[in-house]
Amino acid sequence: MRVSFGNCSLRSILVDATGSVSLSGAQADDRVRQIAGDLAARGIGRGDRVAILAVTSLDWVLVDLAVLALGAVVVPVYPTSSEHQLNHVVTDSGARLGVAADDTDRARLTTAGIEALTFAELAPDHDAVPMSVEDHLGAVRAHDTAMIVYTSGTTGDAKGCIITHGNMYAAAANTVDRAGAMFTENDAATALALPLSHVFGQTMLFASLLAATRTHLLPGVPDLVPALPGIAPTFLALVPYALEKIRKAHRLHLPAGEETAALLRGHDVIGERDHAVDQPTSSMLGGRLRSVICGGATLDATTVAFYAGFGVTICNCYGMTETATAASVNAPETNRVGTVGRPIPGTTIAVADDGEVLVSGPNVSPGYWGAAADRTAVDADGWLHTGDIGDIDPHGYLMITGRKKEILVTSGGKNVAPTPLEDRIRLHPLVSNAIVVGEGMPFVAALVTLDAAAYARWRSERGATGPGGDADLADPALRDAVAEAIADANSLVSRAESVREFRIVPGDLT
Ligand code: ATP
Ligand code: MG
Repeated sequence: MRVSFGNCSLRSILVDATGSVSLSGAQADDRVRQIAGDLAARGIGRGDRVAILAVTSLDWVLVDLAVLALGAVVVPVYPTSSEHQLNHVVTDSGARLGVAADDTDRARLTTAGIEALTFAELAPDHDAVPMSVEDHLGAVRAHDTAMIVYTSGTTGDAKGCIITHGNMYAAAANTVDRAGAMFTENDAATALALPLSHVFGQTMLFASLLAATRTHLLPGVPDLVPALPGIAPTFLALVPYALEKIRKAHRLHLPAGEETAALLRGHDVIGERDHAVDQPTSSMLGGRLRSVICGGATLDATTVAFYAGFGVTICNCYGMTETATAASVNAPETNRVGTVGRPIPGTTIAVADDGEVLVSGPNVSPGYWGAAADRTAVDADGWLHTGDIGDIDPHGYLMITGRKKEILVTSGGKNVAPTPLEDRIRLHPLVSNAIVVGEGMPFVAALVTLDAAAYARWRSERGATGPGGDADLADPALRDAVAEAIADANSLVSRAESVREFRIVPGDLT
């Protein structure tokens, strides 16, 4: 079995979340062939879309590889998707089959209109003779679609971004190339807790497979924290929010301002690991953790300094769904704090006159699928317009300094399009305006102003007599009314994008 592209046989050891199932490359290979055989028997072949709705797990990886081996297309679905989003992904992708971790999610897929199975129902007889997938593999070409990953736009429904086998291979192999030592050091091990429903998770999975790293598959950060000492990873791939979660789980405090400054001073390059390593904390992190590849959202220098204090180098990387995540990556040995690293080999990054970051290379998606097929972010010269504002330092390292597109990026790396949420909240009769905020924060919040006339009517209907105006802003009944508007908007999106807090701010109430 090859990892869907190239001549890379599966050599990695794959371990499930409990640590009790561990598959050698050959064992994983057999299991992938069994699943591929079952999928083929169910009529899945080249170009057919298979939706996968699950948290990250060993089963997901095996099904992922089986679908790719058949030349079929993985359509990852976020487990936290709203019904609206799930329906859109299933319908727009034209998925023929859905696969889920459990009965509940299988039922959600069925309700969305497709035949669906659980992981356990795929090739349940583990003695099945593995099929030969070489014939199919021989037919898979670099420009064939490997995945369609739905990524939110600034307006309307998410767009299905086409990721080819060539895109994924370029992103994964060149990330390994750029961040070399991290992946290839002796006995490299990682715990993958990133969602496989996002390209960052997929790219880091394939990077780990290509580098033959022992890879533990975990459903999320809450499971990662207690598992670290047992897994003893040498590197991790995380989003900034997860770094903070791990720190807080151990009730560790950020260094004071001067300490941060001292840790960072003269450590433009924090790869020297010359800081005193705190033993207890180091063992909480598994004792062997040396580097973290971190991307998806703005990374705070204080967090970097905190981990540096424990001998862990945080390598900031940058990309987006359209670049199969990896566009630029810092390497542990040449890490430059405050930058998102140098372009991965084969990829070129430029900054346009207006400051917009442009990317071109084999990792850049050829375009969108379905309803968004006629849209493109790539110009006539082949540059992907990222919507991010940046600069390139004299050493060739990219810095992300702002954003041109109307998108908020939370510290969990989730893109949130504020406009559709704001528009929906404003539909409520009491609301005059709404602003959704949350850039760089763990969650999204909204500031809401009320329509003065509607508010006056609302008051008189309730027979309110008090002074009115701003004094009412704390009225629980008023909060409940606005909460309805928020809940209505939230029904459109996943939990990660939903408005979790809101405040009614004084408008022109009288
Ligand atoms: P959605 O799927 O809802 O679109 P997403 O997080 O999956 O959300 P991505 O395409 O991964 O969407 O988001 C990419 C964006 O995240 C980039 O365009 C950039 O704005 C931001 N980003 C990624 N990495 C970094 C980084 N290291 N520093 C700052 N911003 C970053
Ligand atoms: Mg992101």
